[in-house]
Amino acid sequence: MSLYEELEKAKNYSDIFSLVKKAVKKSLKEHRVGLMLYLGNLPMRVGAFHPIGTNDVVLNRRLINALKSEVKQKSYLFSILLHEYLHSLGYHDEEQVRALTYKISVENFGSQHPVVEASIAGPWCELTQEDYEAIEQDIDLEMIKDFEKIEIGYII
Ligand SMILES: [Zn+2]
Repeated sequence: MSLYEELEKAKNYSDIFSLVKKAVKKSLKEHRVGLMLYLGNLPMRVGAFHPIGTNDVVLNRRLINALKSEVKQKSYLFSILLHEYLHSLGYHDEEQVRALTYKISVENFGSQHPVVEASIAGPWCELTQEDYEAIEQDIDLEMIKDFEKIEIGYII
């Protein structure tokens, strides 16, 4: 099954994150485990953030809720998770991460897919210290359970 079809079938954050890992493995031959996903209320221009030195990714609940179509929601989720996953692999340079997000999206979905559109549109603003202090009161963090699937090949 192509990633295109798999994204259509994806049902939750964990499914989409598995596809992010698959795409990165195919394009960069890199892989890591142990990330935790949280939802939080962030400023609308921020998709998510990954505090350096942690295993956490905080996804913007307000932004995800504002995306009305399912295709759009999944495409942005894929793109935002891909961006943060690349940070977690040690890519800290914003320009480089954006370029890689685009490249990996095209390589795995073809240039016409909404995932590619999302990789160009962003939002990619990083959360500043001031932002963080401003939102701390109402960030309302919620951990997503079972975000990472244990990737063992079961034989049925
Ligand atoms: Zn970034």
